[in-house]
Amino acid sequence: MDFIHQTVHALRDAVIQKKVSARELTEAFLRRIKAVDGKIAAYNTLTPEAALTQADQIDSAISKGEPVGPLAGVPIALKDNLCTHGIRTTCSSKMLENFVPPYDATVVTRLKNAGAISLGKTNMDEFAMGSSTENSAFEKTRNPWDTSRIPGGSSGGSAAAVSASEAAAALGSDTGGSIRQPAALCGVYGLKPTYGRVSRYGLIAFASSLDQIGPITRDVTDMALLMNVIGGHDPMDTTCVNLPMPDFTRNLSDSINGLRIGIPKEYLINDGGVDSDTAAALTAAILQFEKCGAKIIETSLPHSEYAVSVYYLLATAEASSNLARYDGARYGYRAKNTKDLLEMYMKSRQEGFGPEVKRRIMLGTYALSSGYYDAYYKKAQQVRTLIKKDFDEAFQNVDLILAPTTPTPAFRFGEKTDDPMAMYLSDIFTISVNLSGIPALSLPCGFSKGGLPIGLQLLGKPFDEETILKTAYQFEQQTDFHERRPTLV
Ligand code: GLN
Repeated sequence: MDFIHQTVHALRDAVIQKKVSARELTEAFLRRIKAVDGKIAAYNTLTPEAALTQADQIDSAISKGEPVGPLAGVPIALKDNLCTHGIRTTCSSKMLENFVPPYDATVVTRLKNAGAISLGKTNMDEFAMGSSTENSAFEKTRNPWDTSRIPGGSSGGSAAAVSASEAAAALGSDTGGSIRQPAALCGVYGLKPTYGRVSRYGLIAFASSLDQIGPITRDVTDMALLMNVIGGHDPMDTTCVNLPMPDFTRNLSDSINGLRIGIPKEYLINDGGVDSDTAAALTAAILQFEKCGAKIIETSLPHSEYAVSVYYLLATAEASSNLARYDGARYGYRAKNTKDLLEMYMKSRQEGFGPEVKRRIMLGTYALSSGYYDAYYKKAQQVRTLIKKDFDEAFQNVDLILAPTTPTPAFRFGEKTDDPMAMYLSDIFTISVNLSGIPALSLPCGFSKGGLPIGLQLLGKPFDEETILKTAYQFEQQTDFHERRPTLV
């Protein structure tokens, strides 16, 4: 059995049944990383010693017959904006290049307690701002399906790591699509949970009212398993809701007979922005859902056209406020040889942040400045409410909404870097979900003629991840897109 290509649940079972030890598994993934990460550059930081120590603890518990967690011995990767105690957490920014957090994010603690083994921290767009991971201050992560192309972003390192079998699963964060878009472009699953489902404690903030942490996996069962571990109330995050947590694996194989899936007419797939391969994959997928018993219904999200503008006002406004803390005084990068305090602040920010982060701070500061606040920030908040209402209304008549994840498969390096607007439009199908707080999963649904993965999204009612997962599970049983792996070596 070639362990590195297996799912989380297969690996966990193998460890518990002593078919492989946690140490052997961890070593197999570390070897894989050594063999392919030179090509992919998924990781910013590797933590082999910590991983092996943890693996030995799991093995010793198993040999003594002690209870182990639901992810016992499974090697995973963490996006580099999740704080890890004693391990550098950079946000792929020069600003935090040497930042070593004194605590673990709640999701990191929960994964550890469940027995998962962290292999390291993955590359991302600086401060999670971007759609291609090209905004990283460090390396360019490459798409495992075609290394001349981007892996998507901002969780590009996490998606590439799972796709290239450099981790069995990973965590990402999604503010406007950053889990779902790279998952789609790398041929894996990515879930943005409902806002408030997963604690953000220890996630370095980009836009706090939009950010959510979620898993990137190779199948739906793994998604459910990881959600069981990372989800649920946390007193350390006041926006994390105190609702009962279902066992997400429980209803996976339930029938979806009669389930109503809405297709928003505004996203209609033959529309200009969506390329023909993506449209064809979506059309075939819709037929497949019908075969599984779902009813396809046309629905409407009339304010969709404003989503990109609203997002880029609100996300930048929140970011400009969140990033004010990086001033060189407390932690993070500090410029040298400055003549006074003001120059130290200014130079630290000037040298520590990259161009996209600065662009967003300027945009956000402008939208919040007095005189413009009502015209931009307040107006955007009002339209955000209308976008949310569109979903409330649509969900009166449908159980789920189906949409493309991205307009096209992975693009080439440099293709959109000179045109921020073109880059921002890659999020056209993902950002309404964050503005509304609802959950959405991107799942593999086909390949382009050139062999690049294509994803589709299932959008659900707030806190109804279960319906999304069981629907995706039915689709997964009938298709094999999730079983294909890129050939790398
Ligand atoms: N691409 C979007 C942006 O640049 C989304 C980023 C994200 O979800 N973190 O803002």
